[in-house]
Amino acid sequence: MGGPGCPFCEETALQTYYPSDDRIYRLYVCDSCRCYLKTIDLREIDRDVCLPVENIVTVSLDSAAREKGYRHY
Ligand SMILES: [Zn+2]
Repeated sequence: MGGPGCPFCEETALQTYYPSDDRIYRLYVCDSCRCYLKTIDLREIDRDVCLPVENIVTVSLDSAAREKGYRHY
């Protein structure tokens, strides 16, 4: 088994992810339905996680994904 499957379509094999520079965040993309998903690797983070803040921090990941033609679900 590989990484996590796509939560948006039936595809389970072709998940690709791009880690952020600090390796805390990962941008998963699915080339089947062209969607993306941001995740936080809690093992890499040693502070409290505040999701509204994380969303702001990861705006650059959203921009990168959209530039590549992926959309957020
Ligand atoms: Zn998909």
